[in-house]
Amino acid sequence: SSIIFEVKNLKKFFSLEHKSVLKAVDDVSFTINKGETLGLVGESGCGKTTCGRTVIGMYDRTEGEILYKGKDIRRLKGKDRKAYNKEVQIIFQDPYASLNPRMTVADIIAEGIDIHGLAKDADDRRNRVNHLLELVGLDKEHGNRFIHEFSGGQRQRIGIARALAVEPKFILCDEPISALDVSIQAQVANLLIKFQKELGLTYLFIAHDLAMVKHISDRVAVMYLGAIVELDESEDLYKNPLHPYTKALMSAIPIADPKIERERQRIMLEGDVPSPIDTPVGCKFQGRCKQCMERCRTETPMLKEVSKGHLVACHLIEEEINI
Ligand code: SF4
Repeated sequence: SSIIFEVKNLKKFFSLEHKSVLKAVDDVSFTINKGETLGLVGESGCGKTTCGRTVIGMYDRTEGEILYKGKDIRRLKGKDRKAYNKEVQIIFQDPYASLNPRMTVADIIAEGIDIHGLAKDADDRRNRVNHLLELVGLDKEHGNRFIHEFSGGQRQRIGIARALAVEPKFILCDEPISALDVSIQAQVANLLIKFQKELGLTYLFIAHDLAMVKHISDRVAVMYLGAIVELDESEDLYKNPLHPYTKALMSAIPIADPKIERERQRIMLEGDVPSPIDTPVGCKFQGRCKQCMERCRTETPMLKEVSKGHLVACHLIEEEINI
């Protein structure tokens, strides 16, 4: 499959008072293939949102390389820049905060259509908006209303319609279902899956727990304190997690079968996620890892391929597998 985004040694640091540095994204490399969903998972504060936003170019002062279809996104100009701004869209966690409360839903959805001059005339614009409303399971009458008149799930549907309006190729899904009721989460996730299939979209899907991305992702990257600690095909990762942090996250997912649930071992994570400010040398997970060794405190483990497509950053795994 062809690569749509290639990220190499990406870093995004924020300078704070007293010479402290927040390493929100600390040397992250990965690729996103055309047509896939790459899940990006981690506890809050791990840098996943900053990472996603850095990848699509929402921040400046970043280090490393970000290639979109082989081109450095920071050097895009003219036609290429316009195409990029249209092809790459975002769906936010909180549509209420990201959608203008004073605009009608129709105008919110049509904003990108107007910016990119996609509609031939007013009729075409209206038809496009109505079609989008219908696509996301809303009524065309909803176009005349305002965002506060809708439920969380409906707002997210409007956010999706707005992103789809400009015929994107890639969507950064920035925790789009995390804030929704559990009963609504699956509906919105299924809608996203459906559009991906029908429109050939590519997603970077950010979420804070593994259970949430399991269903929707082809591959999953697990982030801890600004670094990716493990990346694998979704199914394989759930069957065979290797990094101690992934294992702990995985053991916290409830299993429906009570027998398995009783017999299985819960690996409890000790302590909270440490502050991403002035992180220690060596492995960032050392303070919470039961298997921590001497070298973990001095050497940063690199993300290495342990089997085809399965990457892990852990000295223990490296030594066990002998890579
Ligand atoms: Fe634990 Fe060391 Fe592996 Fe880090 S590198 S996860 S501290 S064993």
